[in-house]
Amino acid sequence: MKKLLLSLAVASFTLGCNATSETTKQPVTKTPVTNVIMIVADGMGPAFPTAYRYYADNPLTPNIEQTIFDKHLVGMSSTYPAQESGRVTDSAAGATALAAGVKTYNSAISVDVNKQPVETVLQRAKALGKKTGVVVTSQVNHATPAAYITHNESRKNYNAIADSYIDNGINVDVLLGGGWQYFIREDRNLVNEFKQAGFDYIDNFELLSQTNSHNKLLGLFADVGLPPALDNGGGKLLEMTKTALSHLENPNGFFMLVEASQVDWAAHSNDINSAMAEMHDLAQTLAYLESYVASNPNTQVVLTADHSTGGLTLAAKGEYRWSPEMLREMKTSTSAAAQALADSEITETSLSAALANITLENKDITNVIEAKEKALSKLQAYLQLTPEQQKKQRKPSVKYALYRALNSIIDHNTNTGWTTSGHTAVDVPVYAIGAQSAIFEGLIDNTDVAKGVFTLIEKN
Ligand code: MG
Ligand code: ZN
Repeated sequence: MKKLLLSLAVASFTLGCNATSETTKQPVTKTPVTNVIMIVADGMGPAFPTAYRYYADNPLTPNIEQTIFDKHLVGMSSTYPAQESGRVTDSAAGATALAAGVKTYNSAISVDVNKQPVETVLQRAKALGKKTGVVVTSQVNHATPAAYITHNESRKNYNAIADSYIDNGINVDVLLGGGWQYFIREDRNLVNEFKQAGFDYIDNFELLSQTNSHNKLLGLFADVGLPPALDNGGGKLLEMTKTALSHLENPNGFFMLVEASQVDWAAHSNDINSAMAEMHDLAQTLAYLESYVASNPNTQVVLTADHSTGGLTLAAKGEYRWSPEMLREMKTSTSAAAQALADSEITETSLSAALANITLENKDITNVIEAKEKALSKLQAYLQLTPEQQKKQRKPSVKYALYRALNSIIDHNTNTGWTTSGHTAVDVPVYAIGAQSAIFEGLIDNTDVAKGVFTLIEKN
């Protein structure tokens, strides 16, 4: 961080107030980079790594320890999409900017505003004879991975996007994440097609450590996205990343996308518990990659977010306090806790157990019981409707009502604030590890991230 402040100070001294890079910075000619690892932390606005610092802090020392993120901060990135979509990006336009260096409309998967395909860093790497890999905690055909691998006018075309992974020519050597529902369908079995194309296939985390690293690998571990980090034993992003690396290493180098997909999902639900757990999963992965770069100095890592989600703030309602203590004690996701409470009677004991045994206020218990009763009676009413009428509305969910009620107790206890269930337009932090980190320094734009990666891939 000290280095960043110094270089920012030097930059503003020499460039006046123009801190934004107008042209892509050229790599420093020292260690040649043959491998690039791009990490996207979906939805991770600047408040998330700060929150993680307090969450991960050792409470036995008076100082707040630096995190793995803090050590590698190099700057910030703007995230706005093409002007037809205003200033607040979605993950598709964000990923297109990061992958192809082109601003586009929200929902676009690596096509420009005229719906024409734009080449991505992954595709260029493949064309140049490198190996390529994608590791995500969402389904592998979700917006972010899709925008690195393929082109589509809409992120919502999940089946078409999955089909294109085969039909446009397979351009990945390793593909790990979720997505059975899109790959094993009645009309088409893409898993079989990957196998016919010479891929090994695994559908179980246990098998990650036993794959044959000489072979191409497809690993799908869930119907849609993977279970939240808190419910899958943790460390799955790291395990998948390690396996992918063992398959990708080769003399021509590789490009790999790693996405911590579910920081965004937690934040859309205003769920600070899962947001911190997903950040922890990512932190473990980044710490491993730091050591990987130390022993493989021809590897460059860059990490950023596509946008911020939820408008997370670390204090709320005029109170000068942010208290992540209870979050460190949470052993399951709040969503799983909500499911358990939907399936059983809510008592002070069961509720307190679901919430890291915090001391509950009477109104907390009443609120949760009321939320459940209300949702149950809405569900009853819904079930009385004709099928025609049912189609016109969403089926009331008791679990979701409880999830919201629990999140609100957690927000109150930790004094966490949220301003939206969607995205915001704030800049996001950029981190880099490796000899060419300077390319990503300062205040850059999301398109500069792709431009930097293109430069690295092409030089070597
Ligand atoms: Mg994403
Ligand atoms: Zn989102």
